[in-house]
Amino acid sequence: MDPSLFLPTASIDEAADFFIKKIQEVNPKIPTHLIERAFRYSWEAHQNQIRKSGEPFLAHPVAVALILAEQRLDAITISAGLLHDVLEDTPVTREEIQEKFGEEIAVLVDGVTKIKSFQMKSHQERQAETYRKMLLSMAKDLRVIIIKFADRLHNLRTLKYLDPERIKAIAAETLDIYAPLAHRLGMARIKWELEDLAFKHLDWEQYREIVMKVVASRSERETIIDGFVFPLRERLEEEHIETTIVGRPKHFYSIYRKMQERNKPFEEIYDLLAIRVIVGSIRDCYHVLGIIHSIWTPIQDRFKDYISTPKSNGYQSLHTTVFGEKGTIVEMQIRTWEMNQIAEDGIAAHWLYKSGGKEMSKDDHALVWLKNLIDWQKDLTDSTEFFEFFKIDLFHAEIFVFTPKGDLISLPKGATILDFAFAVHTDLGLHCIGAKVDGKIEPINKELKSGQSVEILRLNSKKPSIDWLREVKTPKARSAIRHWLKTTGRQESIDLGKKIVQASYRRLHATTSFSDHIPGLLQHLGINNADRMYELVGSGELAINKVMDFFQVFKIKKSVPSNMVSRIVDTFTGRHRPGILVGGNEDIMVRFAKCCNPIPGDAIIGFVTRGRGISVHRTDCVNVALFTGDMERTIEVAWENSEQKKYIVTLEITGSDRTGLLQEISRVFSEFKVNIIEGVIKTRGQQARCTFNIEIAHRNQLKPIFRSIQRVKGIENVSRVKEYISEDRKEAGL
Ligand code: MN
Repeated sequence: MDPSLFLPTASIDEAADFFIKKIQEVNPKIPTHLIERAFRYSWEAHQNQIRKSGEPFLAHPVAVALILAEQRLDAITISAGLLHDVLEDTPVTREEIQEKFGEEIAVLVDGVTKIKSFQMKSHQERQAETYRKMLLSMAKDLRVIIIKFADRLHNLRTLKYLDPERIKAIAAETLDIYAPLAHRLGMARIKWELEDLAFKHLDWEQYREIVMKVVASRSERETIIDGFVFPLRERLEEEHIETTIVGRPKHFYSIYRKMQERNKPFEEIYDLLAIRVIVGSIRDCYHVLGIIHSIWTPIQDRFKDYISTPKSNGYQSLHTTVFGEKGTIVEMQIRTWEMNQIAEDGIAAHWLYKSGGKEMSKDDHALVWLKNLIDWQKDLTDSTEFFEFFKIDLFHAEIFVFTPKGDLISLPKGATILDFAFAVHTDLGLHCIGAKVDGKIEPINKELKSGQSVEILRLNSKKPSIDWLREVKTPKARSAIRHWLKTTGRQESIDLGKKIVQASYRRLHATTSFSDHIPGLLQHLGINNADRMYELVGSGELAINKVMDFFQVFKIKKSVPSNMVSRIVDTFTGRHRPGILVGGNEDIMVRFAKCCNPIPGDAIIGFVTRGRGISVHRTDCVNVALFTGDMERTIEVAWENSEQKKYIVTLEITGSDRTGLLQEISRVFSEFKVNIIEGVIKTRGQQARCTFNIEIAHRNQLKPIFRSIQRVKGIENVSRVKEYISEDRKEAGL
């Protein structure tokens, strides 16, 4: 773009003429009336504003509009691109935009304005919130995210004028959020450019090294590619198939990432070359595949048919890897023009092939994914929980597994048998008890691998439970389980909860009837009806101890059935664990539950396990809610008054990395005379994550330690990690 256009001396008419000509060069067929109006409006609104680079501000929205035009987007999107910063940076209001340009453009401009980076406590939360905002804006109109990508792209291209810290933050956010989302929406071209630009700003040395090596090996690569392209072109001409054959565009960040993942040097990563063959029809794709296999020998398991089974972001192509002369290897990607457009532009291609349709087409995979995600997030009220699942969908590689009929099902890496069952059919998921994986019977939480054949075993009387939520990776399965628990599961939870509450009450040996206490109990718990209370208890959302705490006010005498204690003592004599009293008796084997790792001061409860003594949990542990259904086996336990015994607690501390951080944290521990058993620090970019195993005698010690650590410069978060098994417990065989 000619910068003189934006000099204050250029008139608005000259500038508008010049800009419209540029747009028409990119897309001659586009109607320009609306675009010109938006240009003139943006010109007036941003008058006198200057970018950090010294250019007039208007250069930015104009560049964004041109990026959108290059992607063949419609006049509405391009106009919204011109206006995308007026709400944030000028006095213009949403109402004014709506009045002058209509509701559609107002929704787009408003949506783009609302996606901002958030100043939150932790990096995680920030990411989670940014994603959620993006998703909500996209739900209104998908083009919001396309404009946002163009905005980010231009900002990255002109980043050098900002201060270095800001540059790094923007580049990191691009790799964390924007690039994976672009990938998931199938927008490969945008994704590549975003990644390469961010990579360049984050790690200039590495970036430069890879660029130099790609350039240096160019002629060698071209010779190899020509060795495949010439014979192929000849054969295709004989067969009268019209094709375009191109070498794969280079993408520096993906080379870098492969080097990291495989821990191999550039030379071993960059040996696999790719050739793209683009033809007119799907029939031609398979025809070309046949021709390729008749000229060269294919590598057996490298053939992939993404035409019959598209990737979940909508990508379609045939991939085959063949041997050439002198041991050269090349990957051929065969696809139609439409597939190529979708492979490069993803959902943005939607506006090219389906004229201006906002509605989602049934066969567009990326759109179906997005629509499902919007549905699912309604069920996930906690934004970090939502983000966990979103991330799995975004970042994890895909695996492909077979149904008994030979159909392929695609799942995120790490998906379990239960995920597979729900992916096939919700009803199958709800009654799943396991599966035959390649003929071998496996439990529902077994992780699946690509290429396996899975036959689900179902039992009609089987029902989902709340702990199933821990066994699934896909939002679809999770959402279906949640839904069942809320509806069908509700009555069952009420019945179960009722039994648990009444049995617990009976154990108090109270003289009054339980129903007399219900109004007071509900008020105490802040719940407005008894069924709801039973349901919460039965579904494990409300710990039974929280309910029973109410009765402590009445000082109802609690007791442990003495016959049970003696039974346990009989079974486990001689195993002494100091620190815990079971029904006043300390000579009983106990072990600390791994799931919640209680320490003195925590409210605790015991559970008689089958053959392994008493396991001690924190009363707020989710698992307590699960086993309190079995009243016979819960037992009261208490901490022995002893300061001698030390307990190991794992702390996780996150913050921004700097030199001396570790020392300062360690100093806090020594100030409190706390032993550090182990300390690990992991850094990713600016972010540091430290894990410490420390020895303490009582829970009361933790609070002041937390407070002091939080005062260390750069620390964002300190938390206690529940799952930890200390070495001494393992030794004791507990
Ligand atoms: Mn902008």
